[in-house]
Amino acid sequence: MSVKITYATMSADNQELNQAFEAAVERARGSLGQTHGVIVNGEVRTDRDLHTEVSPIDSEIVIGHYAQGTTDDVDEAVAAARAFQPEWEAWGWERRRDLMLRAADIMEERIYDISARLSFEIGKNRLESLGDVAETIEFFRYYAKQITQHEGFIIRMGSQSGEENLSVLRPWGVWAVVSPFNFPMALAAGPSIGALLTGNTVVLKPSNSGALMAFDFYEVMKEAGLPAEALHVISGRGSVVGDHLTHHDGVDGITFTGSYDVGMGIYRTANESRPKPVVAEMGGKNPVIVTASADIDTAVEGVTRAAFGLSGQKCSATSRVYVEESVYDDFVDRLVKRASEITVGDPTKSENWMGPVIDQGAVARYQRAIDEVEAGGGEVLYGGSVLTDGEYARGNFVEPAIVAPAEDSWVWREELFLPVVAVAPVSGLDEGLERSNDTIFGLTAGLFSRDEQEIEKWFARIEAGTTYVNRAAGATTGAWPDIQSFGGWKSSGTSGAGGGGPWYLRQYMREQSRTLFRG
Ligand code: NAD
Repeated sequence: MSVKITYATMSADNQELNQAFEAAVERARGSLGQTHGVIVNGEVRTDRDLHTEVSPIDSEIVIGHYAQGTTDDVDEAVAAARAFQPEWEAWGWERRRDLMLRAADIMEERIYDISARLSFEIGKNRLESLGDVAETIEFFRYYAKQITQHEGFIIRMGSQSGEENLSVLRPWGVWAVVSPFNFPMALAAGPSIGALLTGNTVVLKPSNSGALMAFDFYEVMKEAGLPAEALHVISGRGSVVGDHLTHHDGVDGITFTGSYDVGMGIYRTANESRPKPVVAEMGGKNPVIVTASADIDTAVEGVTRAAFGLSGQKCSATSRVYVEESVYDDFVDRLVKRASEITVGDPTKSENWMGPVIDQGAVARYQRAIDEVEAGGGEVLYGGSVLTDGEYARGNFVEPAIVAPAEDSWVWREELFLPVVAVAPVSGLDEGLERSNDTIFGLTAGLFSRDEQEIEKWFARIEAGTTYVNRAAGATTGAWPDIQSFGGWKSSGTSGAGGGGPWYLRQYMREQSRTLFRG
């Protein structure tokens, strides 16, 4: 790809990119609708119950039929991964790294085709789809760079009587990866890459909405030369495959990315048989503060992109905005105007910026949130309708919504995962901080201010793992490997080490101290 796409890329006004993407959309149409089996030891098993996934853009477009794995599939995959892990570790980090770099090149060659399929599968626009795949390519390269810089995480220690002492970081063993629907490539691949590169073998359980990307990831890894025993993909139901895998005694570590309820359930119970690391990356209720010193246009752009990008279905989406009273009306007026410019529709077409929400359950949740705002004495300032006519008839489309809920409404507290942003006036930065931090979550947060003292105070007091000041490209969204590490505090994340950041790989390894007297 000659054009470098990140989540901070503001518009797709590049002719070459558009032509390449549109050609890939046509190819993608012809490639959808196939049956995909669970993959154990390289064996593709389709003789299972099938889940049929349809596109959120148009329910007549069948994305694929996914085999629903069984607990026996999980048992076999874990056993195979366990048996092969010592050999995989013995490959050594340089050989594994070279394989990851080959995989990055293969994925880069296919970025348009994979992105177009992703666009149909999740309903992302072209920049968001290309971003999801480009981020994955960066994960390969950034983690390869990390392991090279740290020379395989082998550190020579001091010596007391001529002996050799080493601190060696070694893999835990078999790693389970459970991924969500919203970044179906980056969040299935990112943790898998981290685990594999550091010498773990992996059993991956993708979301049933998004599994196509896990299969595309598998193909890339296979072509790069990954042995079949190192990575197994078990599509299926969370309550069957996900539950069995995350509670399996043969699993040594887990990365779960998804909702708070499921993640906390796993975090509480996965260690019953023995200690093991559980990395759970969960939801958010991400706040933004706009103070009177802010550049209001920058704040409006940043909030618009972060609240409504990918139809609000990012864990990092802006869901609450606290605006200093003196600029509240001006901010809200401009935000409403900006929201009215958003084009909603089939996101494979360049003219549409906002696509559908993932399923009819999300549409019902949207309706409930809007009803709650109205019934609770709040106000819907923009949007609020489900779109069902004409081109919207067979998809899950809703308007971007700006709401001012009553202060005690659950809309302020619960993660909606929808294009709905709540706004409220506050007396200043202190009240904004108090209300921003009044949540169980702590994933991302944003500030718009041109006052150095406000900025310093906000960085010191905001309770969030990923923070941005004055970012037009996304007030709370759009972290990029090697640029911003991405992870949550409080009930948003367990590890304190963000994806795409310098501390990420550490959690896939445990330390072994080696003392050797020679002779
Ligand atoms: P989800 O929790 O419904 O599903 C996530 C995965 O868990 C899926 O693969 C699902 O099948 C599986 N699962 C469901 N029940 C399970 C169980 N009992 N045991 C084991 N696995 C089970 O989440 P989703 O709707 O796919 O994704 C949206 C959520 O993910 C949001 O809450 C969002 O904030 C969060 N998310 C967080 C991050 C982050 O980095 N913090 C990133 C993306 C998404």
